[in-house]
Amino acid sequence: MDNLKAPRAPKHWDQRFLVIASHFAGWSKDPSTKVGAVAVRNRRILAQGYNGLPAGVHDSDARLKIRETRLEMTVHAEMNCVAMAAQNGVSLVGATMYVWPLMTCSRCASMLIQAGINKVVVPDYVEPQRWQDSFNVARTMFIEAGVSVSRIPMNGPINPMEDSVNDGWNESIA
Ligand SMILES: [Zn+2]
Repeated sequence: MDNLKAPRAPKHWDQRFLVIASHFAGWSKDPSTKVGAVAVRNRRILAQGYNGLPAGVHDSDARLKIRETRLEMTVHAEMNCVAMAAQNGVSLVGATMYVWPLMTCSRCASMLIQAGINKVVVPDYVEPQRWQDSFNVARTMFIEAGVSVSRIPMNGPINPMEDSVNDGWNESIA
């Protein structure tokens, strides 16, 4: 019966949703970078996304291997999340966007601001140098637009069996 047991989940809500975002990241066919995003409000998931080519556009291995083509056609996880919400008629105003494993790029940041997202949560992983400029532009825009950005330790206390609230990084436990 062991195989019927649900996997252990982190106790911290921000970690839980980042784990879910990481799950969606795994669905990406992108050979170089797999990103997942989940929009959440009041601990309920409103929409999700992962990076990939638009629906119906052929995402053949041959096409995905050509970096220029891939970058031109790829819809980022955050944008797919916003698009899914739009398709379903769901407002993201006041929602939190969980993105794994990278910080939001400048293009997605502008979209998230326009969609009404008011908080972005990412893991505190080391950021690749080549995207640093874009991440910095994103941070500048988020600060000016009043969108908070939290970097959450994923190797921190993840003890699902422990009932006491763990300290130190529980600022967003409501
Ligand atoms: Zn992006």
